[in-house]
Amino acid sequence: MSSNIRTHRPLKMRFKLFANLIFFIAIALLLLWGMQIFLLDSFYYQLTKNSMASAATEIEEIYVSGTSDFSQRIYSIALNNEFCVSVFGPDGKLLSSANVGGGCIIHNIDDKTLNDLYGKALDEGGEYFHRAGLAGFQNNAGPGKYIVRDRILYISVRETASGSLIMLFDGATSPVSLIKAVLTMHLLLVSIVLSIFAGLMANVLAKNLSQPIADVNRAAKKLTNGEYNVQFTGESYLEIYELSDTLNQTAKDLQRTERMQKDLIANISHDLRTPLTLITGYCEMMRDIEGENTPENMQVVLDETARLSSLVNDLIDLSKYESGAQKLDIASVDLDFLLLETVERYRKLMAGKEYTFVYDSVGPTFVNCDKKRILQVIYNLVNNAINYCGDDKTVILRLTDGENGRKRVEVIDHGAGIAKDDLPLIFDRYYKVDKVHNRAITGTGLGLSIVKNILESHGAVYGVQSELGKGSVFYFEI
Ligand code: ADP
Repeated sequence: MSSNIRTHRPLKMRFKLFANLIFFIAIALLLLWGMQIFLLDSFYYQLTKNSMASAATEIEEIYVSGTSDFSQRIYSIALNNEFCVSVFGPDGKLLSSANVGGGCIIHNIDDKTLNDLYGKALDEGGEYFHRAGLAGFQNNAGPGKYIVRDRILYISVRETASGSLIMLFDGATSPVSLIKAVLTMHLLLVSIVLSIFAGLMANVLAKNLSQPIADVNRAAKKLTNGEYNVQFTGESYLEIYELSDTLNQTAKDLQRTERMQKDLIANISHDLRTPLTLITGYCEMMRDIEGENTPENMQVVLDETARLSSLVNDLIDLSKYESGAQKLDIASVDLDFLLLETVERYRKLMAGKEYTFVYDSVGPTFVNCDKKRILQVIYNLVNNAINYCGDDKTVILRLTDGENGRKRVEVIDHGAGIAKDDLPLIFDRYYKVDKVHNRAITGTGLGLSIVKNILESHGAVYGVQSELGKGSVFYFEI
């Protein structure tokens, strides 16, 4: 069934892991590349901008302080920041110029360009940054030649008491391209190494993860072939460990069910064959031998027929209960009266067989239940008590108040009792403690299973207390 719902065959764990790892690494690398390569440029530009702006403030302060070593201080600022600086006084005269790197464009700047930049700075509130190839700004590259290298140009106009101070800064962004090239190489290497690593990791992880699953799968296949003693031993991960436990339990359950089914078939065939043999034998005898057609012989045939039909009824009932086809007919029923009637009936039925039936009651007790079904529960329990009470031959029925307003019915015998190990199993279908079929004790191993089904459909509490050699108390509270 389930294979019909599946739409595709999934990938092997190894490939899936590899794909996931590669995807993860690709995302990480993409982020790294994005940060390093693409953002590096703007980070660097921003930093240069900041340091140029703060250098402008510093130069303004130096200028205002009227120090005598003005040019020297400008030079050291330029040197520290690795950009060129030119400072013009209020009358447009060059006060100082610090050239600390090649390729500067501000030292031989023509008046027109300077005026242009000055105008732009004034337009933008006193400062103007320019970046890029600077096409159009002529410099010492030679007349008619233009700078194509990427540079940052900054002009700051500060108003001082003695007039405007114009500062020109010029820095290269070229280190960025160098760093970028180095980083690209590094990242390329890292990407290759990580991809190889992802492949290896995927292999190792897949092996570690899939091996125990493959082991469990192999064992499970054995289980489907009926090898119930197969052991699931996976313990590398908690999940596999728990799965193994569950499958070990499943194997045990399957084994038990199969054994019970075999037992049931053996029991039922025995139970069917014995009455059939008797019926055939008696009928032939009555047909062939004169005088044998007696009411007693006829009764044997009738008894055996009844036994047969009760067996068949048990089977039909159980299959009905288990399929949920049986509906309950709930009404108020006097349990006390029901039990009393039952005891009377058994006393009559077993008259002359030295059985003692004791009934102990709190008096009339009404409960809501399906009378026919509850009667069947009582019959099944009493039949068992009769079958298993041994030489004591006493069956006690007791009606008392149970817990939570329920009424409690107990069927007690002082027979062989039930071993502790068997107790949790006896309500299971087909379960018989005594595997060797014993004609003296009738039963198919279905009685308690029917009891369980009926009581559960009533929402009743039920169980058994038993000790080997001392007898059993089967009870239910409804
Ligand atoms: P069966 O038809 O074999 O009696 P049941 O389902 O009624 O089947 O009972 C299941 C098994 O539980 C029995 O085979 C028997 O071994 C055990 N059992 C049931 N009732 C008693 C009891 N009163 N004393 C001892 N064993 C019992």
